[in-house]
Amino acid sequence: MRRVSIFGSTGSIGENTVDLIARDLAGYEVVALTGGRNIARLAAQARSLKAQIAVTAYPECYEELRAALEGSGIAVAAGPAALIEAADRPADWIMSAIVGAAGLPPGLRALRHGTVLALANKESLVCAGPLLMETARRYGARILPVDSEHSAVFQALVGEETRDVERVIITASGGAFRDWPLERLAEATLEQASSHPNWDMGQRITIDSASMFNKALELIETKEYFGFSPDQIETIVHPESLIHALVGFADGALMAHLGPADMRHAIGYALHWPERRDLPVERLDLAQISSLNFRAPCPKRYPALALARQVMDAGGMTGAVFNGAKERALDHFIAGRCGFTHMAELVAQTLEQTGANPLLREEITLDNVRAVDQMARKAVDEALSHSAAAQPLPAVWI
Ligand code: NAD
Ligand code: MG
Repeated sequence: MRRVSIFGSTGSIGENTVDLIARDLAGYEVVALTGGRNIARLAAQARSLKAQIAVTAYPECYEELRAALEGSGIAVAAGPAALIEAADRPADWIMSAIVGAAGLPPGLRALRHGTVLALANKESLVCAGPLLMETARRYGARILPVDSEHSAVFQALVGEETRDVERVIITASGGAFRDWPLERLAEATLEQASSHPNWDMGQRITIDSASMFNKALELIETKEYFGFSPDQIETIVHPESLIHALVGFADGALMAHLGPADMRHAIGYALHWPERRDLPVERLDLAQISSLNFRAPCPKRYPALALARQVMDAGGMTGAVFNGAKERALDHFIAGRCGFTHMAELVAQTLEQTGANPLLREEITLDNVRAVDQMARKAVDEALSHSAAAQPLPAVWI
């Protein structure tokens, strides 16, 4: 019996993880499940997987969760401290699938127990890559990538020497607006940005795919996780989303990883690693697919990519600025307080404004990352309050 916990179990990655575990319940002892405000779903998951404890991130949701699990024998807790306590519960495998920087504290805590951490929460690596990797090393823990591109690179590297790698190419679908005229992007609505051409994901990552902030985070994630230098890491638009990444070696060979756009592949690979097991995913029919397309990403359409380069070159805690500013700009876009293209402007402005701050060169600790993250969010709020875009928006935004 493997002991497993899922942080962010009610989200898109969480549900896919629950799906895989529920198919083989006899093989697992489910320790902790955590979610947010979708209490009915969290309680249903906890009952069906017979979890030891269910935790909501929000103290105000405690009573609802307690009532929903009354008589089940499942323990209930709420709030950020309860998430940390859940990460202290012994488990052999932990899925980190909270969205945003909020996933960092429990993920970091879990690593201190020497567990296997399946990492979907890319924001942790962007904000605190060196801290996360060093904590894993120190406590004999193992981080396995769950992002499809990083899982693909990880798989392409099996049996290879990192020193033989010349370059890594992660693919991007191009998102919802890949074929829009550039001049229309500024008017893109929340609804339009929330629909992805190939993947079914949470709302935030879907919007980040349209703006390519998701790929920007992933470039940084590639650097932090694998340790490649920024000039070895590329991205290419591949509208079919069937090749997830390619690794180029010193002899010119390019190893591509193909698979359906179904996150259960990458989750299942991390769940069964180092073995491969049968997974309930579609098998690709190449004759039917017939062609695969690629194009260079247009820098005007996707300014987030150049910002990621800037972050990778700057190092230190610049990633925490980038992620914090991006998360806050996204909050504002979702709330209808800023336009689609304005998000990248706010992030660029925040990077520029905070770049010389000595805090970014301090030691990368959880407290310092928190301080940098807060500084970046505040800078975005201030920039927005001074900007014309903060004026009430037309009805289409609401
Ligand atoms: P989602 O929005 O569908 O789910 C997020 C989960 O986190 C939910 O359980 C939610 O309740 C919880 N949560 C939200 N805010 C929280 C907070 N402040 N504190 C604690 N819990 C909180 O997100 P998702 O699409 O499943 O993505 C999860 C993570 O996986 C993200 O880091 C994302 O970038 C990454 N990822 C997702 C996909 C995908 O296909 N969805 C693919 C690759 C990587
Ligand atoms: Mg990805």
